[in-house]
Amino acid sequence: MSPQEILNNYFGLTDFRKGQKDIIDHILSRKDVMVIMPTGGGKSLCYQLPALLFEGVTLIVSPLISLMQDQVDALQKRKIPATFINSTLSTSEYKKRIYDLSEAQYKLIYVAPERLRSTSFLKALERVKVSFFAIDEAHCISQWGHDFRPDYMALGRAAEQLGRPPIGAFTATATPEVQDDIATQLGLRDFRKFVTGFARPNLQLSVRPVSSRTEKLNCISRLIETHKTGIIYCATRKRVEEIATRLHDWDIAHVAYHGGMSDEERKRAQEQFMACQADVAVATNAFGMGIDRADIRFVVHFEMPGTLEAYYQEAGRAGRDNQPAVCELLFNYQDKRVQEFFIEGSNPSRQIILDLYRVLRQLADQNHTVLLSIEKLSEHLGGRKTNGMAVSSALALLARTGIIERFDVPGQRIRGTRLLQPGLLAEDLPLDTDTLARKEHQARTKLESIIHFAYSFSCRQQWILRYFGESETEPCGACDVCLRSEDKKRGPTQEELLIIRKALSGVARMSRQGGPTGWIPRWGKTRIIQMLIGSRSSPILNAKLDQLSTYGILKNAGEPYLKDLFREMERVGLLTSLQKDKFIRLLTLTPEGAAVMQGQADFKMLWPRK
Ligand code: ADP
Ligand code: ZN
Repeated sequence: MSPQEILNNYFGLTDFRKGQKDIIDHILSRKDVMVIMPTGGGKSLCYQLPALLFEGVTLIVSPLISLMQDQVDALQKRKIPATFINSTLSTSEYKKRIYDLSEAQYKLIYVAPERLRSTSFLKALERVKVSFFAIDEAHCISQWGHDFRPDYMALGRAAEQLGRPPIGAFTATATPEVQDDIATQLGLRDFRKFVTGFARPNLQLSVRPVSSRTEKLNCISRLIETHKTGIIYCATRKRVEEIATRLHDWDIAHVAYHGGMSDEERKRAQEQFMACQADVAVATNAFGMGIDRADIRFVVHFEMPGTLEAYYQEAGRAGRDNQPAVCELLFNYQDKRVQEFFIEGSNPSRQIILDLYRVLRQLADQNHTVLLSIEKLSEHLGGRKTNGMAVSSALALLARTGIIERFDVPGQRIRGTRLLQPGLLAEDLPLDTDTLARKEHQARTKLESIIHFAYSFSCRQQWILRYFGESETEPCGACDVCLRSEDKKRGPTQEELLIIRKALSGVARMSRQGGPTGWIPRWGKTRIIQMLIGSRSSPILNAKLDQLSTYGILKNAGEPYLKDLFREMERVGLLTSLQKDKFIRLLTLTPEGAAVMQGQADFKMLWPRK
């Protein structure tokens, strides 16, 4: 039978999804493969189908023991001989399956990763031909992934013991570090990588630059009014509570969800939202693991998330029913600070780790235990200055390295800490400083990628797909960037041209002449616009900007219009901005802008509404 016939006859499906056929052909050619496809993309078919065409058995490693039964049931219903082997089996059942296995009774066997550490299990497999070794959730092999499982580290060796069948690594997590790790640790040879299925054509992605809280609140109010059901993602618990209060004032049925709530409360919030008793959820990013509500029409990020992966995963909760949905990122550069704070919190410095360890040793009782809350420990470390999150990360790190253990204290809310190697001096702590530094650097790089994404002028969907490693992509035609495409642009009216030339002169007055492009920026957009509308605010007056010849020449244009106009002028390259420090981007003319100012060049752009 051909793959197409098996698809129809056994799986009851008509067509392959994008990518599936190529992947299956590649697997059938007995080569190693890495497949990166989002959850729900249809990875399992890629190893289940070839299994029926191979002569021996296909072994599938999966960490999700609870799902094995369902998967096997589904296969058996289709008359595909499959089974699973994991710790839930009784000894006699285990023996029976091993026997059937050696009798070539199965085409597919799901196994838990720890099985492949067992010599007796590997021995039993020697009697059968393993034609393909599929590793599901392959990112679990990487310490860089979010779900590291030590048992996965033994899989490379297990493959050798099984006679080194072709290996397929399957995952939904796509970062380059994790991919490299998977390939190295599994010992993939001359393999092909397929990244596919991440596009979500029904999502309208957009990034909206916003400068104030009020502007953000206006955005969410408008989104709720137009689209009704949605999720508002915030970076902090405090913000979740703040917005929940706002929604309450607006009389909108909503649920709030964040890590500071009890399990009970969170469960209730989740259930209410799922049962459609509330249309809006406002949440930190912990929300959504189990959210399968298909009719979510908008997802808005009140602040930028820490990585593009997180952004896309959260945005991707919109439009699961494949109907159009909007995803808006409310972008303010200053919100980056919150994410930096998190990065600092989850990457404690070597100094903090050493200090904490010294404190623990000092305070330990004769049983080598310390019963103090994280807050109290932070105080011992010098009080307010130490980020409590950094202390708890440092504790987690010490626990991971086997230096301490953390335990529940009956009847108390705090957790206790026990020194496992009480004789060990702080100076002798085995800290892998290189790895720590690399991890922090990686987090910062990821944060930068969100910033680049927000400032980029290329199709949002395409940008994300390329970031994930998909190669064949096309502009989506639906995102904010695509909607501003060429054919919507036009030249200025007489009146608009006058405004543009006045605006450009204002920028020129507030720049210096010189440098390679002719103009050196000195001021940010906000001040320039304030000068143009003749603001009497103190920064303007103090800097004597009210004495410029261009002061107040666009009094009638209004600040909101000018802001939009400046953004478009920057997009079409009349203006350019330069990051000065964390908070300020300085703005000046491009040579093109200077030419337009002097009436020597034409241009086209999108015109904001007045
Ligand atoms: P993943 O393992 O990538 O998360 P699954 O393999 O569980 O995804 O597939 C998700 C769903 O998509 C399943 O219900 C599966 O039956 C369905 N599916 C997979 N391939 C196809 C296809 N070619 N046509 C229609 N449905 C498919
Ligand atoms: Zn686009």
